[in-house]
Amino acid sequence: MSDADDTVVSLQDVEVHFEEDDSLLGLFSEPDTVHAVDGVSLDISENDVVALVGESGCGKTTLGKAAIGMRRPTGGSVRYRGQDIWDAKDGRGDVTVPYQDIRKALQIIHQDPGSALNPYRMVKNNLEEPLKRWQKDLSDEDRTARILHLLETVGMAPPEDYAERYPHQLSGGEKQRVALIRSLLMNPDLILADESVSALDVSLRVEMMDLMLELQDQFDTSYLFISHDLSNARYITEKADGRIGIMYLGKLVEIGPPEQILNDPQHPYTKALRWSSPDLRIDPSDDELPMRKIDIPDPIDPPSGCRFHTRCPVAREACKGETPEAFPVDDSSDHGAACYRVLENHEYWESQPLDNTEDEQTYRKQFGD
Ligand code: SF4
Repeated sequence: MSDADDTVVSLQDVEVHFEEDDSLLGLFSEPDTVHAVDGVSLDISENDVVALVGESGCGKTTLGKAAIGMRRPTGGSVRYRGQDIWDAKDGRGDVTVPYQDIRKALQIIHQDPGSALNPYRMVKNNLEEPLKRWQKDLSDEDRTARILHLLETVGMAPPEDYAERYPHQLSGGEKQRVALIRSLLMNPDLILADESVSALDVSLRVEMMDLMLELQDQFDTSYLFISHDLSNARYITEKADGRIGIMYLGKLVEIGPPEQILNDPQHPYTKALRWSSPDLRIDPSDDELPMRKIDIPDPIDPPSGCRFHTRCPVAREACKGETPEAFPVDDSSDHGAACYRVLENHEYWESQPLDNTEDEQTYRKQFGD
């Protein structure tokens, strides 16, 4: 747990494993264990913005859900203002923050805003529902006033008109704004924005991220922003002075301020992600091979040692042994990378490079060069 007083959510060595039983054979065999998240520690402070980036299946959404108490971790702890969320839910030990308060303080906006809205109810009824559930002392007038004020704040004017519409009468961007209002109604401390701008076109995406940041100032909230797109992560974290965390196969492999993650990435996987975002490539003509194998290993049986070693172009024998921790890149910032190359005197430098000739040929056949 972090000592900082302004830490809202603290994840310590969080692990989320679950069993997957995807065939009839499951009747006769043991289900497989998926290692969705493994040993991730992360503190999120007040008014913070942390963007988690990685390929599909890297565990970023599972980690995000664990951070807001929507997913019970199978190991480690998740604390809200020092209170273990699951102890609060289960009534274990000396509970200092009631679970109800935690649920209100930690909210989510989904990728598909429609999934959070009842299609048969008007916008105002959709927005009233959480207020009725969580803030029973609000009068009808106060509830309506709050909803209209928020609709106006997010640019949905005249608010009385939007309040009477049904979800199908809204555009994608408007639905996403209503979903944002819904998450803000409780004055939350942290909002998990799970690919919440991915389905919007580029200009709306920027508009939505600007709106989220504007509202962050008004509501004093923090965002855990999940995206597969490094450009979106850069946009929101640069404006908010936040951090980008890179996830690979259930591990947080690099974290730091956006300018360091993008201009001085230390983990070879971060370099590969930057390489695959043409607008972020430092040299667009750069054809240096960023990864060995193209297949993401199976999270049911992740590689030993550094999980990236089967794809890493600079992997050596030492990378197959111990799993690297997130080492600080320098003393002056909160930039860390889980790669042995960050350590000057690690045995990595003396060990043999892994033979990647065959992988390189496979890769070049698939992608050309
Ligand atoms: Fe590559 Fe080794 Fe660093 Fe892992 S520890 S990223 S395999 S160099």
